Amino acid sequence: MDKSMLDDILKKNAGEPEFHQAVSEVFESLQPVFDRHPEFVDAKLFERVAEPERVIMFRVPWLDDQGQVQVNRGFRVEFNSALGPYKGGLRFHKTVYLGLLKFLGFEQIFKNSLTGLQMGGGKGGSDFDPHGKSDMEVMRFCQSFMSELSRHIGPDTDVPAGDIGVGAREIGFMFGQYKRLTNSFTGVLTGKGLNWGGSLGRTEATGYGLLYLVREMLKTKNDSMKDKIVVSSGSGNVSIYATQKCMQLGAKVIAMSDSNGYIVDKGGIDLSLVQQIKEVQRGRIKEYLVKHPNAEYHEGSTGIWEVKCDVALPNATQNELNGKAADALLGNGVLAVGEGANMPTTPDGIRAFLEGGVLFGPAKAANAGGVAVSGLEMAQNGQRLAWSFDEVDTRLQGIMRNIHTSARKASAEYSTEGNLVDGANIAGFMKVAEAMMQQGLV
Ligand code: NDP
Repeated sequence: MDKSMLDDILKKNAGEPEFHQAVSEVFESLQPVFDRHPEFVDAKLFERVAEPERVIMFRVPWLDDQGQVQVNRGFRVEFNSALGPYKGGLRFHKTVYLGLLKFLGFEQIFKNSLTGLQMGGGKGGSDFDPHGKSDMEVMRFCQSFMSELSRHIGPDTDVPAGDIGVGAREIGFMFGQYKRLTNSFTGVLTGKGLNWGGSLGRTEATGYGLLYLVREMLKTKNDSMKDKIVVSSGSGNVSIYATQKCMQLGAKVIAMSDSNGYIVDKGGIDLSLVQQIKEVQRGRIKEYLVKHPNAEYHEGSTGIWEVKCDVALPNATQNELNGKAADALLGNGVLAVGEGANMPTTPDGIRAFLEGGVLFGPAKAANAGGVAVSGLEMAQNGQRLAWSFDEVDTRLQGIMRNIHTSARKASAEYSTEGNLVDGANIAGFMKVAEAMMQQGLV
């Protein structure tokens, strides 16, 4: 397809480098699709899919513990509803701006499509930084944020969830405010508490799902996670439960990080200690050394990719693994890379892995487990039912297997068999494209 069309999209969305990166990657993968489907080109499907259906941006005023007024900016990007209600997380982080949420919302469209569930794509959040805030400050912020957001969401319209900086505590505060404002108890958010509509397995879903996908990738080489040495960046929701599943599958995770630095514990990370530090105390990863003085701590998070491993799991944030880091991993003989975070590998990093013959699981496929179980939470809420952990986990395993199969199949049909970057982009796009064609010019 004509590259000038991509140039026009990039020009129109100036100053949004992460969105440019996400759109350019999908555009490149879709070239063979557009060659075979001129009707998609005539219908301007790519131009339409790259334009959010709606963007909401709003003021979030709140009072801090000193009684001072604080003002943040809130967003919701309702990107595409061809397959179902908008669905995607809320991110609270100081780096949040419209372009970042557009990248995340755009990726979410194809990821949600890959799960096979009825979910459109969206994303939202705020430049609010939860670090160092008291519970009461977080509550006042969440209530103010939801006071505006509540006008735009609903169980059949838009169903937000958590992401960086938004966990069980924040979802609870936002749900409480939504319920109060609307006088309704509905499944308007996912990631809820277990005794008020949450799904068993949602907390673990992204990390576990990542390993289910990596397991499928390794199977294509008659290999498994058993005895593999793993590096998992980050120490938040995704990294913690990816590490837990690695251990269950017989692998050893030896390094984790936070935004300040990384720890290496050659004997295997003590996960319950990491959970205590990050989930309970909301502390820093370097505190790990207090109980494990023989482990190493290094300032700065990028050096983690120099730690020798068989499987690398970038589970922290976007663009955390660049070309240089990919070369270091390749030099150390990495076999597989699974992206738990969204767009954690830069384009030159991805190229290096694909050319180096490494099994590479791109985020849209690899971290779809979280939203998949959010979809299952919506299904349970709709029926006022609660499934067992095993039932949810069995469905999650099935969904991740299907994602791997459909991405691999699409890669064989349109690109190079096993190139899951192209495969996931194409398989995710095809379903959205067909639905958009059938729903007319909307
Ligand atoms: P959390 O907020 O629970 O954890 C994020 C972790 O990453 C924290 O340990 C944080 O450290 C660390 N981190 C943030 N920035 C950096 C950085 N520049 N370098 C190193 N570490 C960093 O978020 P999640 O685990 O939920 O999300 C992680 C990634 O996974 C994101 O890309 C998110 O979009 C993606 N994702 C999450 C899903 C979910 O279900 N939660 C679903 C699908 C994707 P610190 O403590 O210092 O802030």
